[in-house]
Amino acid sequence: MYEGLSEIGPHFELSETHKMVRQSIREFAETEIAPHVKEWDQSHVFHRPILKKMAEQGILGLSIPVKYGGGGLDYIALAIACEELERVDTSFRVILSVHNGLCTATIWQWGDMEQKKKYLPMLATGEKMSTYGLTEASAGSDPAALKSKCRLEGDEWIINGEKMWISYTVSSDIFLIFAYEENVRHKGMRAFIVERDFGGITTDNIDHKMGVKAGETGWIHLDNTPVPKENLLGLPEEGFKVAMSALDWGRYTVGAGAVGGAKAALEASVKYANERETFGKKIGQHQFIQGMIADSVADIEASELLVWKCGWVKNQGKINTRETALSKWYATNAAVRCADRAIQIHGAYGFCDDYPVARIYRNVRGATIYEGSNEIQKIIQARYELGYYEDKPLRCMPPAYDPEEWAKEDTDKF
Ligand SMILES: Cc1cc2nc3c(=O)[nH]c(=O)nc-3n(C[C@H](O)[C@H](O)[C@H](O)COP(=O)(O)OP(=O)(O)OC[C@H]3O[C@@H](n4cnc5c(N)ncnc54)[C@H](O)[C@@H]3O)c2cc1C
Repeated sequence: MYEGLSEIGPHFELSETHKMVRQSIREFAETEIAPHVKEWDQSHVFHRPILKKMAEQGILGLSIPVKYGGGGLDYIALAIACEELERVDTSFRVILSVHNGLCTATIWQWGDMEQKKKYLPMLATGEKMSTYGLTEASAGSDPAALKSKCRLEGDEWIINGEKMWISYTVSSDIFLIFAYEENVRHKGMRAFIVERDFGGITTDNIDHKMGVKAGETGWIHLDNTPVPKENLLGLPEEGFKVAMSALDWGRYTVGAGAVGGAKAALEASVKYANERETFGKKIGQHQFIQGMIADSVADIEASELLVWKCGWVKNQGKINTRETALSKWYATNAAVRCADRAIQIHGAYGFCDDYPVARIYRNVRGATIYEGSNEIQKIIQARYELGYYEDKPLRCMPPAYDPEEWAKEDTDKF
């Protein structure tokens, strides 16, 4: 019998804190990003000073406990932040996906006490920026095909390899890097916290992308990069688990952001439908246009519920691979549908950059590919349902939200 995912009842009410997060991040995004976003998108340049402003707003460590320099807010607050940033432009939500989700939260989940003490404060406060380097030119969906290699020499690991399609490589100081230990294939993937200053690291941007043009996507080359032994994340044989559980953080932020992209598409559609006239009436009066508006409303509502349900499961500290994959898959496809309808509603004007909808489409399209393509999310869903996958407790479980503990400032309790 199909029992549904994660046995919960409805939890629809946003707390006052969640509402405040929405309001403050919306204000920030509309003041600091929205007025410039068209220019940044068209010039294909990431405006780096925005990182300092995001750090000052506490956005870069929102769901990390206060004692580690974060905001001490729960994972639903993180989803709301992603949604609000992507409502303005996907590029700025991607910062949260790689920095807050894939890197900082993963160090928090898997790091030993020394790693947490050293890295979390600098990351949660945004003093240092970070990203996640799994993908390579010939290994995306199939990370077991990674070619990057590492070997232990005395007290250091030496890493060689090249990571491709990595977000915010040029602006990052810290990288989570995955490489196979030389001559060890079974359980041979190792996870490392790598600082740019360790040496042998070159990064650059890919500048001919379809979307996320106001942000960075690039490559990292590691040439005999020495990494201290203590920067191995997790036990040696846990590298693959670290890589996959990081994606549970990242995918959650991608799904949440997609809700914002879909809302932006709907808002633009409604505005245009109430302005443009054909056959002597506003196009919003035509039933075909109404149908598209209604379909987008349904898509957004369903996506947001899936994301928040997933946030609720995350708040409990449970493994959430299945919920996360479902919300990422559904919400990103839904965002593409909403953006596609928005272009249709705008007619020829949707086919150029005079209106935001073409940019929204180019942006949301990418999310069906990255952090695991949507085909991979579907496979995850089916395999769980068919009984081929099951959740097993991890040595380091995803940290549950604890409002009291997370609000404490006591650094002695590291
Ligand atoms: C804008 C952007 C930002 C990114 N940022 C990062 C980042 O920060 N860090 C990082 O590590 N990576 C990042 N990526 C890489 C991204 O995660 C990969 O592109 C993604 O995992 C897909 O891999 P691929 O492109 O190699 O496609 P492939 O794996 O080659 O897949 C090609 C096609 O085959 C399908 N396919 C593959 N295997 C199967 C299967 N078993 N069954 C059915 N269909 C299958 C895929 O769904 C896809 O449609 C980013 C990518 C983009 C576009």
